[in-house]
Amino acid sequence: MQIVAQNLTYIYSEKSKGLAVRAIDGVTVTINEGDFFGIIGHTGSGKSTFVQHLNGLIKVGKDKGGLTVGEYDLSDKKCDFKGLRAKVGMVFQYPEHQLFAETVFDDVAFGLKNYGKDLSEEQISSAVRSALEIVGLDYDSVKEKSPFELSGGQKRRVAIAGVIVTKPEVLVLDEPVAGLDPRGKTEFIDLLHRLHKTFVKTIIIVSHDMNLVCENCNRIGVFSEGKLVKEGSPKEIFSSLDQIKELKLSLPVTAFLTEVLKEKGVNADNDFTEDGFVDAVVSAYMERKRGDK
Ligand code: ADP
Ligand code: MG
Repeated sequence: MQIVAQNLTYIYSEKSKGLAVRAIDGVTVTINEGDFFGIIGHTGSGKSTFVQHLNGLIKVGKDKGGLTVGEYDLSDKKCDFKGLRAKVGMVFQYPEHQLFAETVFDDVAFGLKNYGKDLSEEQISSAVRSALEIVGLDYDSVKEKSPFELSGGQKRRVAIAGVIVTKPEVLVLDEPVAGLDPRGKTEFIDLLHRLHKTFVKTIIIVSHDMNLVCENCNRIGVFSEGKLVKEGSPKEIFSSLDQIKELKLSLPVTAFLTEVLKEKGVNADNDFTEDGFVDAVVSAYMERKRGDK
């Protein structure tokens, strides 16, 4: 499913004049099926407001632009939002805070029952089993447990299982790695790639972590003051040093080191992925050695 936002605008408290906040302002963007799309930008730039539109959590206002997700026209009042939400999964910061049921099974199954389809008990348990397995939990040993007995990392996995149990084609994550240690973060990113190889076709991730978006996303959109000010590959985004500074963003370590080397007269031009950076540095080094002989 392709996602197309056209001139999308959202104003909080529009009716009360003094309090109105133009949170997003004329955002036009296309996110293609297959993208691992990163969204970055300063706090308050409108990232969360934008992504909450994608599954209809925030509705497209009248005369506030257009938004389609596949065949769903979200600016149409008659849009099938239930159907849409089964196709577009949404994971928030600290997703484990959304857990509520008495058992892990019930928590994950809730996502399914909520979409109104008449599923047999068997279909439900098989969907719950595969959702728990894909997030790396053993179905038989966790299904009867209370989610609250689990470790932090396991809770987060259960919460994700509850989102992906409907096999969404699009997965939207709003700052999902906040509060994870480096190991937890790596495991989480591995999980996203695993999902991206199966039924999740498109991933949209909001993050403050420039290394994370640079390494994992094929495209990045930069928000500032409610506007999408730039969109492109990680290389395109992090090559404009002045703009990055102006937007008060930081550089991923690969782009930073490439710049440091450039100042020292070493050309290690690369795509700013870790592998790309290492390869470029090794070739620059080999070239220099050859030159020395
Ligand atoms: P980000 O996710 O980039 O930090 P948000 O989308 O949360 O940005 O916020 C964009 C703007 O909208 C900010 O000025 C913020 O203060 C405002 N805002 C966000 N949520 C609300 C709300 N529920 N009511 C009023 N203003 C809000
Ligand atoms: Mg936010």
